[in-house]
Amino acid sequence: MADLSDIQSVEHDVVVIGAGGAGLRAAIECGLQGLNTGLVCKSLLGKAHTVMAEGGCAAALGNVAPQDNWKVHFRDTMRGGKFLNDWRMAELHAKQAPDRVRELEEWGAVFDRTPSGLISQRNFGGHRYPRLAHVGDRTGLEMIRTLQDKLVYLQHVAVHMECTALELLLDDGAIAGVLAYWRETGRLFLLKTKAVILATGGGGRAWRFTSNSWEYTGDGFALAYEAGAELINMEFTQFHPTGMVWPPSVRGILVTEGVRGDGGVLKNSAGDRFMFSYIPEKFAAETADTVEEADRWLADSSKNRRPPELLTRDVVARAITREVVEGRGSPHGGVFLDIASRRDPEFIKRKLPSMYHQFKELAGVDITKEPMEVGPTLHYFMGGIRVDADTQMSRVPGLFAAGECSGGMHGANRLGGNSLSDLLVFGQLAGVGARQYISGLGKQPRIDMAQVERAVQRATAPLNRAEGINPYVVTEHLQHVMDRYVNIVRQRDELETALVELEKLKQEVAQVKAPGASQYNPGWHEAIALGSLLITAESVTRAALIREESRGGHSRVDFPGESDEWVKVSVVARKGVDGQMEVRTEPRPQPPADLAQIAHATLEELEGSGATAAREKGASA
Ligand SMILES: Cc1cc2nc3c(=O)[nH]c(=O)nc-3n(C[C@H](O)[C@H](O)[C@H](O)COP(=O)(O)OP(=O)(O)OC[C@H]3O[C@@H](n4cnc5c(N)ncnc54)[C@H](O)[C@@H]3O)c2cc1C
Repeated sequence: MADLSDIQSVEHDVVVIGAGGAGLRAAIECGLQGLNTGLVCKSLLGKAHTVMAEGGCAAALGNVAPQDNWKVHFRDTMRGGKFLNDWRMAELHAKQAPDRVRELEEWGAVFDRTPSGLISQRNFGGHRYPRLAHVGDRTGLEMIRTLQDKLVYLQHVAVHMECTALELLLDDGAIAGVLAYWRETGRLFLLKTKAVILATGGGGRAWRFTSNSWEYTGDGFALAYEAGAELINMEFTQFHPTGMVWPPSVRGILVTEGVRGDGGVLKNSAGDRFMFSYIPEKFAAETADTVEEADRWLADSSKNRRPPELLTRDVVARAITREVVEGRGSPHGGVFLDIASRRDPEFIKRKLPSMYHQFKELAGVDITKEPMEVGPTLHYFMGGIRVDADTQMSRVPGLFAAGECSGGMHGANRLGGNSLSDLLVFGQLAGVGARQYISGLGKQPRIDMAQVERAVQRATAPLNRAEGINPYVVTEHLQHVMDRYVNIVRQRDELETALVELEKLKQEVAQVKAPGASQYNPGWHEAIALGSLLITAESVTRAALIREESRGGHSRVDFPGESDEWVKVSVVARKGVDGQMEVRTEPRPQPPADLAQIAHATLEELEGSGATAAREKGASA
């Protein structure tokens, strides 16, 4: 029997897990609505992926390109997502993103400006117009600073830092609490609550080469899955085309798409701009097909078609992989990204200061003088917790999710810049959704101490075992399996091998041993994270095996090309009654006629025309 008598406990109306952009925006909304809110985060407040976001936040403000509007943004998002996006989420996102960005400005965010003083917007892959509101290449930092400033002045919001959520507690299937632990002391912490908003970001640490930092072990996916929620379309993992490849210690660190948006070009070892050979049919009409036209775009983007370096991330990442496999790569297994020959040093240092310092300090490369070496890196999860588009509630009553840990909005591939806007839009909606749920609920649900005890025993087992396997070795094994068999290009036999390996890893995870006590014990943190990593890895692999087509971030050598049948279904994972993961397909709802028309319209039809007024009114509510 675990001794539960000295567990510290606290009571909130709502607990938000994760303090990146989605968690902060959700907590602000809850605070503004007068809810007693607890905000839990694994590391220090302000340390989240959102703070690392470089390129910008996509919103059809129309400040640089007045012809931009929500319909063109929606169309770009659907095309980028290969039409697998949740239609309603993509609609809400395109319509509400401008208001969320302006709101940030009202709260004190200082964006880069146009000459006439409006929020400046930059080009990014897959976006028809310059659409990303930005602050040099430190946009996420400014967003987090602004959101934190807003949050700390709110009453009713308590922040619990360096605290990891371990398990969601249920009362008759609905949310009742969260069991967490303080990372420093190892002490347990019980949060009693009526609702939980998960905002835990992604799970890139299941792969070795990733832009993700140590916190991103897929905890939100695992917490939701174990509580009975569903994970949707987990096969869609985004490999960003440009991560650092050299030296080995920094392999995977992101090189922002802003480099290409500001004129950088990709070249192979022969010096060719190879992207001209990889323009997909469906983007041909809007993409420059000669170097001359692509160069003219740099001077005047309104009269020329976009360079192929700005095709969507899945297309560029696959093209780089092909160049490397066919022997035209750079010395360290990537390709060259050159901005030095395209822009003067002053421009580069002003627009891309973080990139300048990153390469100078980590690789000894001066990007104002030489090209960078880059290659694909696991970056983002398009799949995630399945939620209702308008309220962000999962199928577990009282459990909400927003930001990267939720799924559906980005379909098969996310456009750059659409995450920062996604987390603002859906963070806010999750806060509203939680308030509505709580007001219909009344009293605090009951905590089942037997469930707490089981959770405590699971969490402390790696400390209590007399001997066992080193958790770091198991993590390495897991990352090797995902890198080797569930990478950017997949096939049946490799995915099946991965599943066999993951079964073995389950046995290993059940035997990990973290020597020492619970205080200051990184080995124990690693052992705990392994459970989430495994659920993340298994759900991606099983979903990837089921989807027999190639679409966006999911590419099958044995099923090349998109299939009209597969766009009609989602792949859904849930925990079966026998405790095993069940993964199956489910039909997707048909889109409303007006949205389908916008998604398939020509640009001429959208740029000047009025929208379906009724729908516009409805969504800004
Ligand atoms: C280097 C980099 C650059 C990027 N650039 C851009 C860009 O320019 N534009 C764009 O749109 N997107 C960009 N992205 C993607 C974008 O930053 C992320 O998708 C987005 O910030 C995710 O926000 P979030 O609020 O969902 O989660 P995050 O910001 O990832 O925050 C997750 C939070 O959850 C906490 N957490 C996790 N597990 C637990 C747990 N068990 N218990 C308690 N807390 C937990 C973490 O500590 C953290 O506070 C970039 C990503 C990276 C890595």
